[in-house]
Amino acid sequence: HSKKLLDTAYIDILTGLYNRNKFLDDIADLTAQAQFNGTKLGLLLIDIDNMKIINDYNGHTAGDEVLKKSAEILKRFSKNIIKAYRFGGDEFLLAIKNCSSMDSITNVCDTVFESFNSEQIKFSGGIAVYPDDSEEPEDLLRFTDIAMRRAKKDGKNRITNFKPEMQRVFIQKLNMQAKMSAALLNSDFYLVYQPQFDIKTGDLRGFEALMRWHDKELGDIGPAIFIPLAEETGMILEIGDWVLNTAFCTLKNWQQKYSFKGIMSINISPMQLKQPNFIENIRNLLIKYNLNPDAVEIEITEGIMIENMNEAIEKLNSLKNIGLRISLDDFGTGYSSLSYLQVLPLNTLKIDKSFITGITEKNGIQANITNSIITMVTKMGLQTIAEGVEKNEQLQILKEFNCHIVQGFLRGKPMPEQNCAAYLGGKKSALISLETEKS
Ligand code: C2E
Ligand code: CA
Ligand code: CA
Repeated sequence: HSKKLLDTAYIDILTGLYNRNKFLDDIADLTAQAQFNGTKLGLLLIDIDNMKIINDYNGHTAGDEVLKKSAEILKRFSKNIIKAYRFGGDEFLLAIKNCSSMDSITNVCDTVFESFNSEQIKFSGGIAVYPDDSEEPEDLLRFTDIAMRRAKKDGKNRITNFKPEMQRVFIQKLNMQAKMSAALLNSDFYLVYQPQFDIKTGDLRGFEALMRWHDKELGDIGPAIFIPLAEETGMILEIGDWVLNTAFCTLKNWQQKYSFKGIMSINISPMQLKQPNFIENIRNLLIKYNLNPDAVEIEITEGIMIENMNEAIEKLNSLKNIGLRISLDDFGTGYSSLSYLQVLPLNTLKIDKSFITGITEKNGIQANITNSIITMVTKMGLQTIAEGVEKNEQLQILKEFNCHIVQGFLRGKPMPEQNCAAYLGGKKSALISLETEKS
C-alpha cells in the first residue's frame, strides 16, 4: 500500500513518466554510479517548441496530446541506460547513463531528436554532462537549462551542448538584472521627456517619456541596451511599473502647476501588456493620480501581435474604452503590416525615423511612401507623428504632406523634467533642440 503512495508521488499523472521529484531523488545515485564505473552521465533537457501557440490556437487538449505523445516517444527510449522524466510544463529530462564517451551521448540525443521530428513535434534541448561540465547535480541541471535556452535563442528545434562561456553570458545577465534591481531602489533610473509639436501651428502637443539609466560604475546605459535585457529577464515588468508611476506623477504635477493640457506618451513593452492585471494597474494609476485617461497615450509596437494577437487586441480595446489613447510606434520597421492598422484600436501612428531620414527631396521614394502613409492613415482618422525629424527640409516636406505632429531633435530633444517644467512655466529658453543650440 505504501509503495503505491510512493509511486504516485513520483509519477506524472498526465504522461505516466517519472516526475521531477523522482529525478531529484535519483540524481545522487546516477552520479555515484557514473563515478564508480568511470563513465559519463548525460542529461538532456527537452522543452517543446511553441507550446504556447499550440495551447492558444488548438486548445489545451491539443497541448496535452503533444505532451502525451512526447512522453510515449521518450518511453520507447526509457530502458536500462536511459531514464526519462517529465519536469512539469512542457519540459522533459532524459538521463543517459553509462556512456563511455561524449559521442555515445550525442548519438542518443540525435536519435531522440529524429524520433520527435518524425512525429512532427519540435523541441529545443540542452545537454550537460557529468563529470565534464560539473560534478554537482544542481550545476548540471542549471547548465542543461542554460544550454536549452541558447538552443531556443539560436532558432529553436535543435539540441545545444552546454559550454562554459554560456554561463559567463548568463552570469553577466544575472549581474545586469541585479544591477537593474538596485538601480530601481537607488533611483538610478530617471525619465526624460521629448516634446511633440503640431506641425502647422507649432503648438506643443505633449511629451514622450523616455527612460535613462546612470550607473555609478558603468556610466550612462542607453535604453536600446537595457530595455531588451530587461525584457529577457522579466525585469521589464517592475521597470515598466516604475515608468508608468513616474510619468503619471509628472503629468499630474505639470497639470497642477502649469495647467498643462497636453499628452503624456508612454512606451509599453509587449510583456507588460500581457500581464493579466495590466488594465487594472492602469485603472488604479489613473485613480491614484487623479488623471483624465485622454491625457495619456500608450505607445505600443507591432511586437505585441507576435504571440497572441487576439488577446493583444482585446487588451488594447479595454484601454481604449477606458479612454486612453493608443499609438503604434516605429511604423515602417519590422513587418509594418497594413492590416494591423485595421485591427488595432489606434489613435496615432508614429512614422519611424528611418523613413524620415530618407526624406531628402519631395519626390524621392521614401518621401512618396511617407506621403501615401500619411494620406491613408489620416483618412482612417488617425493622427500622424513624424519621429526623428532633424532637418528643416524634412519638416517642410512633412508639412506639405499634412503630417500632424513632429517629434525630433530639430524642434526638441528629450529633456530632464526640470527643463520641461521651466518650459511649461513660460521659460522658452529652457527648450533644448538643434534650433536652440544653433542660436
Ligand atoms: P522610441 O520609442 O522609438 O523612442 C524614440 C527614440 O528616438 C528615443 O531614443 C529618442 O531619443 C530618439 N530620437 C528622437 N528624436 C530623434 C532625432 O531627431 N534624431 C535621433 N537620432 N534620435 C531621435 P531613446 O531615448 O534612446 O530610446 C530608444 C528606445 O528605447 C525607444 O525608442 C523605446 O523603444 C525604448 N524605450 C525608451 N524608454 C522606454 C520605456 O520607458 N519603456 C519601454 N518599454 N521602452 C523604452
Ligand atoms: Ca516610442
Ligand atoms: Ca519610435
